[in-house]
Amino acid sequence: MSNESELQVLNPATEEVVATVPAADAAEVDRAVARASAAQRGWAAAAPADRARLLRRYADVVDAHIEELAQLEVREAGHLLGNARWEAGNARDLLLYAAGGAERLLGKQIPVPGGWDITFQEPLGVVGVIAPWNFPMPIAAWGSFPALAAGNAVVLKPAETTPLTALRLAELALEAGLPEGLFHVLPGYGHITGRALVDHPDVAKIVFTGAGRTGREVMERCARQVKPVTLELGGKSPNIVFADADLKSALDPFSFLDNSGQDCCARTRILVQESVYDEAHEFLADALSAVVVGDPADEKTRMGPLISRQQLDRVRSFVPDDAPALRGSAPDGPGFWFAPTVLTGERPDSEAAREEIFGPVAVLLPFTDEADAVRLADGTPYGLAGSLWTRDLGRALRVSRAVRAGNLSVNSHSSVRYSTPFGGFKQSGLGRELGPDALTAFTETKNVFISTEA
Ligand code: NAD
Repeated sequence: MSNESELQVLNPATEEVVATVPAADAAEVDRAVARASAAQRGWAAAAPADRARLLRRYADVVDAHIEELAQLEVREAGHLLGNARWEAGNARDLLLYAAGGAERLLGKQIPVPGGWDITFQEPLGVVGVIAPWNFPMPIAAWGSFPALAAGNAVVLKPAETTPLTALRLAELALEAGLPEGLFHVLPGYGHITGRALVDHPDVAKIVFTGAGRTGREVMERCARQVKPVTLELGGKSPNIVFADADLKSALDPFSFLDNSGQDCCARTRILVQESVYDEAHEFLADALSAVVVGDPADEKTRMGPLISRQQLDRVRSFVPDDAPALRGSAPDGPGFWFAPTVLTGERPDSEAAREEIFGPVAVLLPFTDEADAVRLADGTPYGLAGSLWTRDLGRALRVSRAVRAGNLSVNSHSSVRYSTPFGGFKQSGLGRELGPDALTAFTETKNVFISTEA
């Protein structure tokens, strides 16, 4: 990136420049927030059915551009084409789901003496969304679309490395007929555009996804204005494999290699009951060597590059060349490549075993019994997601309730559905996104008492 007035978008598989995009300064944030405030007043006053209709039309326009959005994601983020199509489809599906919520933002009627009491879910105003680079489209959508459906305007700052799909989504919103200024995308640097958005007095809430260190700063700055904040700060999620599990499914290496491991829900602590540890070790060695790493646009590829040189250096710093590990292979030459890796000689409390690496790297650790598995699963500052594999239903329920994490899967590695709540315990974050209550998170509850005695 050459200077602070522009962003250079690189193709992470080739290091070629895909685009150069102007970076917004604080004055542009001011202008965008003013336009968004003006647009929000009319949007909030519109009938919920009309807001819903426009958001459904927006979903249709996104649907007609799935392939274009997916190709853009492949170029700017190095995602596999199939994954990128799913991501664009996720944005469309969330629009439809959130649109349905606009007409179901119900209040309560509370029995009180002397009159009637009713509550209203009022929109907040302008919501600031700060998105990361690992899933540029879905995470932009999760913060923005439920907020719009609840009657808010949104100013979205995408990550420095991946502004293109977000910019296109904003163009498509206008094409669908959403009011000018209502959904505004402002590419820029975190310490300039991001900070200006967080500090702006007319931004009523911040939705942030990214690194823990940045999230803590965002929260501190929001605290100065008592501004609500949702934080999604990543994880170090366990994959707990009991001896009676279907080992082949449980040890699917894409539970931590999907998106080259740049996934906040990646199951990077593989905890295996000691009686099947050797079998698991052997299975993972074969599985890693079979992973095809390369050009994300090639349908045969199973894993693409990392996002940037900076991320590659970070991942390398956790994996010394002589570390005991199972390793796959990766291309040489241009592009930010790292081979699939399972570290086998780590202690449960080592840095690599506790910290989010955000690359195709997991640790393999043995456990003795159920209590030991839960203790190891909870042995990090994070609590975002996790899987557990067993055929014993009672144990599945006990362990699911015991592990301190927001999103657990039994005999599955899935974490995210637009219709179910998503978010973390402990230092993985604050608040929830998606699911049936997604719109409520973008409202304030107002209580109105009407006297019948006047
Ligand atoms: P980051 O936290 O710096 O960036 C995330 C977003 O925050 C970007 O849009 C960035 O421009 C913005 N930002 C940065 N500084 C800001 C500030 N002071 N005020 C407001 N906004 C600011 O993350 P990164 O440097 O891109 O990645 C570093 C590490 O973070 C990764 O290695 C990974 O461990 C973690 N990460 C987690 C997630 C997740 O989904 N939770 C996503 C991306 C990165």
